[in-house]
Amino acid sequence: MPAFCDIALPVPLDNTFTYRVPGGNGLPEGGVEPVIGGRVLVPFREQRLSGVVVALHDREPSVKTKPVLQVLDTAPVLDESLMRLAKWIAEYYLAPLGEVFRTLLPLAAEFRRTRAYRITETGQLALHQAGMSGSSARSRQEPLQQMLEFRVLDYLAERESTREQVLKSATHADTRILAALVRKKWITREDLSSAGEARRTVKVAVLREPEENTRSFELPSASPRSAEGSLRMTGGRGAAGTTKLNANQQRIMSTMAEAGGRTRVDNLHELPVPHTTLHTLVKRGLVEIIEEPADFTVSATKPRPSPFHFQFTPAQQNALEQIRTAAASGKYSSFLLHGVTGSGKTAVYLTAMHAVLQAGRSAILLVPEIGLTPAVAADLHQIFGDEVAILHSGLTDRERAEQWHRIRRGEARMVVGTRSAVFAPVSNLALIIVDEEHDSSYKQEETPRYHARDVAVMRARMAGAAVVLGSATPSLESYFNAQKDKYTLLELPDRVEQRPLPEVEILDMKEEFRETGHEQVISRRLAAEIGERLDRHEQVMVLLNRRGYAPVVLCRACGHTAQCANCAISLTHHKREHRLQCHYCGYLQAVPKVCEECGSEYVYFVGTGSEKLEELLHGMFPQARIGRLDRDTVRGRHDFERMLNQLSAGELDILVGTQMIAKGHDVHGVTLVGVVGADIALGLPDFRAAERTFQLLTQVAGRAGRGESPGKVVLQTCFPEHYAVQFAAAHDFRGFYDKELRYRSWMHYPPFNAVANVLVRGEKLDEVLKLSGLLGRWLEKTSHVGIRVLGPAAAPLTRLKRDYRYHFLLKSASREKLNGLLRAMLTYAGEQKIPRSNLIVDVDAVWLM
Ligand SMILES: [Zn+2]
Ligand SMILES: [Zn+2]
Repeated sequence: MPAFCDIALPVPLDNTFTYRVPGGNGLPEGGVEPVIGGRVLVPFREQRLSGVVVALHDREPSVKTKPVLQVLDTAPVLDESLMRLAKWIAEYYLAPLGEVFRTLLPLAAEFRRTRAYRITETGQLALHQAGMSGSSARSRQEPLQQMLEFRVLDYLAERESTREQVLKSATHADTRILAALVRKKWITREDLSSAGEARRTVKVAVLREPEENTRSFELPSASPRSAEGSLRMTGGRGAAGTTKLNANQQRIMSTMAEAGGRTRVDNLHELPVPHTTLHTLVKRGLVEIIEEPADFTVSATKPRPSPFHFQFTPAQQNALEQIRTAAASGKYSSFLLHGVTGSGKTAVYLTAMHAVLQAGRSAILLVPEIGLTPAVAADLHQIFGDEVAILHSGLTDRERAEQWHRIRRGEARMVVGTRSAVFAPVSNLALIIVDEEHDSSYKQEETPRYHARDVAVMRARMAGAAVVLGSATPSLESYFNAQKDKYTLLELPDRVEQRPLPEVEILDMKEEFRETGHEQVISRRLAAEIGERLDRHEQVMVLLNRRGYAPVVLCRACGHTAQCANCAISLTHHKREHRLQCHYCGYLQAVPKVCEECGSEYVYFVGTGSEKLEELLHGMFPQARIGRLDRDTVRGRHDFERMLNQLSAGELDILVGTQMIAKGHDVHGVTLVGVVGADIALGLPDFRAAERTFQLLTQVAGRAGRGESPGKVVLQTCFPEHYAVQFAAAHDFRGFYDKELRYRSWMHYPPFNAVANVLVRGEKLDEVLKLSGLLGRWLEKTSHVGIRVLGPAAAPLTRLKRDYRYHFLLKSASREKLNGLLRAMLTYAGEQKIPRSNLIVDVDAVWLM
């Protein structure tokens, strides 16, 4: 057994840490040896931290080492290929390896969990023999330890598996005693999480089958929900069994009947009846309560009718064949699937994954944050059954850990999830698909600042798998790679069932202002088009990519605007909640009656957000049923889905919202999409502003005309001649790409150059200026041929979440040189004692604000 191990700890420090492996009897708790790729618990400063073992060796370090406290895994939790991927990420994104491991292993919940112990046959025997021979057999050991050991055995002898916390407090035995007993094999320790015993369950109420209890019930035919009608229970053997139910009981029974005889108890508790009513029904044998695993309880949503009978177009068929062949080859290959909105990319993904499953191998499908609704999950379950694991942001830490173990055990070979699902511990990986690969939610905006799309490509390369990046609006980087033959380009140029792309009309809002003499939110043209659709009972979506009521609160007397206390950002007025809110840090403030600066009463709410847009539309179309979809109305995935279901079911006429409405949904009744100020982003000082605008406009336009009737888009803008607007209106991706590529080339931006954003932040402005000056001078003195350095300059958001922010932008055609300079800079910052947390290095930054 090597004497030392190097541990990567989840702390913002770039090095690993050496600890002593206690030998012989001094082995850490549990009596097991650390393994590379397994986790250990170690003392670090004042805390105990879990880290991953990266090396075992006998090289004694010059400084004094502390011992490993506990070995958490007897076998590696990260296999060799994920270890390699983690090291690549740490290297490429200049992130501490321990923080990369923390991202790869969603197992934090396991530490907070109590383990359990159970007595063994040997332990029973030892206890029995000790009892037979009295105290003499016990005397060879030190008395206190021995007494405690037998106390534990006594306690466990009468019980099933007992949690560590309970056992310790009942017997006063400490961790050392329990470990000694485990070594003697008198008791066994159970890791509840990996044994799956601590699986979270939900209570489900089930109507008892009539055959089962020889009774049947019938709903009164007239009106099942009327308060007077009583539910009659008819005894199978005659009138004797007839049972009357009161209104509350009846309410539960009919709710359950409507839900097909099964409902989560939580849902029943939401009904306005006392909780005891359900217990009464259980006692009377009408309802049974069972526990079911809560893996991913598919909501009330029923799977959509058979999603797996696709009629493929020749283009789809071709794409599918190429992907299928590549996935079966066992060699690395990469594709960019460029398909217009509504061209049936999802059908291609799912069919390719199905082929992988049938070949007994694994596949991962990544989707953007908003893409995973319970409806999508229902479809996936229908296609892949129990073989699919769905990883979404709504999972608790514990559920995430459970899914992780399921995947690792090979029980789920199809993995669908957002960003971090790219690290799913599948074996025998054949295919990774990144849906909507251009989506910025794939970039993690905290350490490690990885891009899941790029990690997916690297993982596929390391695993010898196929990777497919799909989008209607590919990122410049990916399309450029396809042009350079790094990726094979697969095109789906047409919508399914020969549906046309929507007609797009650009409306110049400057013109509108000249003609009407005042600022319009909704142009006369858009209003007329909406009215027409409502008359025809068709549906409308209106996009305004800014939430809240009014984005600026302005004093007309002195010009003061309400600002966030923590950020250099205007507060947004939220009318319904009656407060001002910062959209960056969440800071809240009461709505001022007078100007806080000069006391004047002329406080105006300027501009329009989605809340105000909804109100305006209500005023214009009082008869229309209007829903709003933005971060204020959507608190969880279920809200999001409920709104979309209402739209699909024809219960809404107009859906207003932010970019949330633009993403991926397939609602057939929508024939008109209005865009109100979607070019807000064009004014931002970010080199990706045009690309983002083009993508948003194309995606939202793609929501129109997905059913029988053709769609139309009315695009209101103050920049009608901007190329992002023009090319989006013409559905011309190639045109946009060529033009944007030229601009990127002139400006030395990606895809021609790699960029890194180095941000210096801190609560004191003086400090930030000093640190950025220090780094600036170092960069001036240091030779950096082939690397352009811009800055230091105040970041566009000069203050955010209490921190002042200065930044440098580094660009280079050579990634190696760029990486080398950044590494040298971090070393210098370390020597100058600049805290690592004040310095953010963002490689391939997507957000330069
Ligand atoms: Zn004022
Ligand atoms: Zn703020």
